[in-house]
Amino acid sequence: MSKEFHTDRPLYDITRFTTLDFPQNLASVFWFCKCNMRCPYCYNTPIVFGDGKIEIKEALDFLKTRQNRLTGVVLSGGECTLYPHLYELCQEIKNLGFKIKIDTNGTNPKLIKKLIQNSLVDYIALDYKAPKEIFEKITQNKNFKDFQTTLKYLIYTNFNFEVRTTVHSDLLNENDINKIINDLQKQGYDNTYYLQNYLHVEDTIGKLENQKRVIDVDKLSKKIEIELREF
Ligand code: SF4
Repeated sequence: MSKEFHTDRPLYDITRFTTLDFPQNLASVFWFCKCNMRCPYCYNTPIVFGDGKIEIKEALDFLKTRQNRLTGVVLSGGECTLYPHLYELCQEIKNLGFKIKIDTNGTNPKLIKKLIQNSLVDYIALDYKAPKEIFEKITQNKNFKDFQTTLKYLIYTNFNFEVRTTVHSDLLNENDINKIINDLQKQGYDNTYYLQNYLHVEDTIGKLENQKRVIDVDKLSKKIEIELREF
């Protein structure tokens, strides 16, 4: 296998150890630069707009020092599926004996499908940013269709994954979230749906103010199981 991509620098940072980001695993997190969305609540501006600093080789060398101590690696960002050698990187991570979780906005269904078909990913956290009608307005991205292709494929293959949405009430109201819930239920999603309440930080992509109100969770549909985070 060609190792030319080892000198690429797609990573902004590495979190060396986390117990929170990959269910049932002690993991590291690789933070990939660049994203094809511009969510107003995104606080990862250096990651979205910045250049990577860490070489793939350095990241793999780090993992070699963690064999038998960590069980998994989270590939996050940014949008890690934009990295052109993610497939080869997953092969190498797997060869080192780690499980892989991918955090994605779902806009690269081809790559996700290829990774799953070749057993190169173990768990996926899929962001459902907004219902179709306001998806582009919220994300500045037109690829709702690609996102839906990813979602359908994960459900169809019964893959181990979770769907999650970040909620800022100026952007999404109860009705919008219920549209997402209806869509998930209609398509047969049977895992927990995670709603992440927006926590205010300065300097988000959309220069957002704090929420004027927190959404009323009693108005949310009970059609699927919901877990609230930070509400
Ligand atoms: S929150 Fe949005 S803009 Fe930020 S990294 Fe995720 S998909 Fe990209």
